[in-house]
Amino acid sequence: METRKHLCTNCSFEADDDSDYCPRCGTLFTENIKCESHSKLEAEGVCVICGKPFCGICGHSVNNIFLCGENNSYEIYEGMAKVFGTSDEIQIHFVKSCLEGNSFHPFIYSKKSTPMQLGGNDQSLINLSASWGEKIINEIKLLVPCSEILEAKKLISELNI
Ligand SMILES: [Zn+2]
Ligand SMILES: [Zn+2]
Ligand SMILES: [Zn+2]
Repeated sequence: METRKHLCTNCSFEADDDSDYCPRCGTLFTENIKCESHSKLEAEGVCVICGKPFCGICGHSVNNIFLCGENNSYEIYEGMAKVFGTSDEIQIHFVKSCLEGNSFHPFIYSKKSTPMQLGGNDQSLINLSASWGEKIINEIKLLVPCSEILEAKKLISELNI
């Protein structure tokens, strides 16, 4: 039998057919799910960070992604949440390999623009990106799938960096 997909009406993500909610945005596919904190209230969505259903009092959509009150401060990019940020490339690769070693699925997201992409030949920018040890202006972000972020955060806090 081929795997069927459930197309999310909110974000167009193709979720597994047997899942109750969209892992990308937290939209519920089934009804009669109650809020984790209010057993009498209907859940309005599932927090993509902690994976629990919540009502409209306990959670709400931030940029079209449903999050509970406790976890609404994460930066989220296409189903991945920022777990760590630095301008130090060596450090971010260190954290990434630590996470990979613990079976997480980290992904480095860097908005760093190179002079080529800017289309210019600004010498100061070229010098900046070329010189070893120079701080990169933009933060490099380390992302993990939303469902892994709580555990990944714990691991990083134990790294003492
Ligand atoms: Zn969705
Ligand atoms: Zn949550
Ligand atoms: Zn509630």
